[in-house]
Amino acid sequence: MKTLKIAIQKSGRLNEKSVELLKNCGLSFENYKSSLISPVSNFPLEILFLRDDDIPEYVQDGIADLGIVGENVIYETGVEVSFLQKLGFGKCSLKIAIPNNSSIQSLGDLDGKAIATSYPVILEKFLKQNKLKADIRTISGSVEISPGLGMSDAICDLVSTGGTLKSNGLKPFTDVLSSEAVLIGRKGEEDNPLIQELIQRVQSVLRAKETKYVVLNVERKNLEAIEKLLPGIKSPTVVSLADEAWVAVHTVIPERDFWERISELKSAGAQGIVVLPIEKIIL
Ligand code: ATP
Ligand code: MG
Repeated sequence: MKTLKIAIQKSGRLNEKSVELLKNCGLSFENYKSSLISPVSNFPLEILFLRDDDIPEYVQDGIADLGIVGENVIYETGVEVSFLQKLGFGKCSLKIAIPNNSSIQSLGDLDGKAIATSYPVILEKFLKQNKLKADIRTISGSVEISPGLGMSDAICDLVSTGGTLKSNGLKPFTDVLSSEAVLIGRKGEEDNPLIQELIQRVQSVLRAKETKYVVLNVERKNLEAIEKLLPGIKSPTVVSLADEAWVAVHTVIPERDFWERISELKSAGAQGIVVLPIEKIIL
């Protein structure tokens, strides 16, 4: 079968998490910083390390079969690719931000203003949808300093914590797009069995990240109350202990309501609670 190629960011915000995800999928490869291509030794796959801006086009044109890139880059380049899986990292939003002392108060106030951005395509679309006309100043980096230099009245840039805005005397004004890293593929290739296999592996890693494995001891008489609190994949596994009045319960708990669930379990009589990370969940 043909060896696949997956394009990931060479260095930058998505590189480390992309490499970690692929390694967690059981793929074995050297993370060469100096070379563009790294072969995977235990799967018919090669990894291409690229600038993130180039990834969508490589995938659209079939130079790479798959890619990991921020949604923002896909929308900005306007390519035709298929979205295979959201990956839960690289979360950020593209926002319009204005100086703290700006007179801009409503969306309509953006009309006729100069907005600096590295995302002219997405911004243009947003302005059009809101029936606004603004002067889009496209710059490739350090967009946040442009209002201070008198180049623009507002900016449209990626924000995750908002720290960069704050330190430049700017405040968020409105959200344009929210984005995270996604696995993309070439249109029409979705049914390739190797691609399907990789998607399954990625999903099993993501599912595992969202859950914890929990083992706890409980008196048999309190078991029913504990079982009511546990979702599990099916029902929990209950194992007898040497002391017949007690059992050990094995289950998985979603990360998102983890601490709440643990305190409920304790109140219902759970003791000796052991929590373990899960590597993969294959359904
Ligand atoms: P490259 O050298 O590959 O072109 P870059 O400088 O364009 O890299 P990075 O800053 O590494 O890109 O960001 C890569 C992606 O990380 C962004 O496209 C976006 O999807 C995501 N991201 C998450 N948080 C942020 C943030 N606060 N600022 C910018 N990008 C972010
Ligand atoms: Mg880039």
